[in-house]
Amino acid sequence: MEVTPNHTQSVSGWAAMDASGEVVPFSFKRRETGVDDVTIKVQYCGMCHTDLHFIKNAWGITMYPVVPGHEITGVVARVGTNVSGFRPGDRVGVGCIAASCLDCDHCRRSEENYCDKVTLTYNGIFWDGSVTYGGYSNMIVAHKRFLVKIPDSLPLDAAAPLLCAGITVYSPMKQHGMLLGEAGRSLGVVGLGGLGHVAVKFGKAFGLRVTVISTSPAKEREARESLKADDFVLSTDDKQMQAMARSLDYVIDTVSAQHSLGPILELLKVNGKLVLVAAPEKPVELPSFPLIFGKRTVSGSMTGGMKETQEMMDLCGEHNITCDIELVSTDRINEALARLERNDVRYRFVVDIAGNGSRL
Ligand code: NAP
Ligand code: ZN
Repeated sequence: MEVTPNHTQSVSGWAAMDASGEVVPFSFKRRETGVDDVTIKVQYCGMCHTDLHFIKNAWGITMYPVVPGHEITGVVARVGTNVSGFRPGDRVGVGCIAASCLDCDHCRRSEENYCDKVTLTYNGIFWDGSVTYGGYSNMIVAHKRFLVKIPDSLPLDAAAPLLCAGITVYSPMKQHGMLLGEAGRSLGVVGLGGLGHVAVKFGKAFGLRVTVISTSPAKEREARESLKADDFVLSTDDKQMQAMARSLDYVIDTVSAQHSLGPILELLKVNGKLVLVAAPEKPVELPSFPLIFGKRTVSGSMTGGMKETQEMMDLCGEHNITCDIELVSTDRINEALARLERNDVRYRFVVDIAGNGSRL
């Protein structure tokens, strides 16, 4: 997939210039609206922990300045001549992917996320050498393939995190058969943050028995009462962990910090499956004994394909599933980043890009 090399449209946004953990106002250019492109006025952008990993160069791959943000919702402003299906005024979303080859087996199956030429929405590189900039900005140009429609029933702010947090847990849940609604199936969600709280909501919507495994005692009440989790286990309490041994069919691990998978694997039944979606800075510890004694499987998953993302969004529309968010004005992004780092968010910050408090 090629995009126009002509970067002519002026955009205001926020970028990290170094690994200090802060963003500053940043003006830059985006490509002109190509024939297959849709230009979007950004309304909201969720703040994923991945943004923080990139801002702080946790993985050693950040190209500064980096404009983070891949949970973007907004309204279509202009469409290219080759675009049908999207019109000015439509409510749309952009997630983690800006481009892929559109020609390989993965792209043909709409697994664009696994294309080996995938270009991410920010900190990615197009064929012309230009670097992609994300949704902490007031306008974005997206190829029509990498856009989803937001159902009318969903508010654009609380739907924004579905574009990454939502699809990232939905995709492995579907892949491993968790959404089939088989009676008595149980899911453990490790880490009750942005990804985790959506996994709990999906689990409950699809009839699973859901246990939250958390380091934060303060989250227990909300987990049970508002998110309707069936159980809550404090992972720092060995007794509670032991009492849950061999009780779960599936576990989704969303813990953003380095940790051991050993105690988590012990929670799985024989043949149980652990899906790792988190990407901590340092490798997680994977002891063999809990793996081999329980014939357990560990797998990974990276966001989701476009067809699947639209499917998830439509299901959220039908079931009225949105994210629990704290709306942040653009002058408080740095405060929110600091709180995200301290694990102080219920459960996703969303930047009010077009709001009144905006300096953009
Ligand atoms: P988040 O909102 O910060 O949630 C992470 C949760 O991990 C926290 O709420 C906390 O839950 C737990 N946690 C944090 N620090 C911890 C520590 N030191 N020890 C143990 N638990 C800790 O993050 P997120 O946005 O959900 O993202 C989670 C991870 O997934 C990140 O690494 C992110 O980069 C990655 N990610 C991957 C994909 C993908 O495609 N695979 C997509 C998006 C994000 P408790 O308070 O309940 O313990
Ligand atoms: Zn993300």
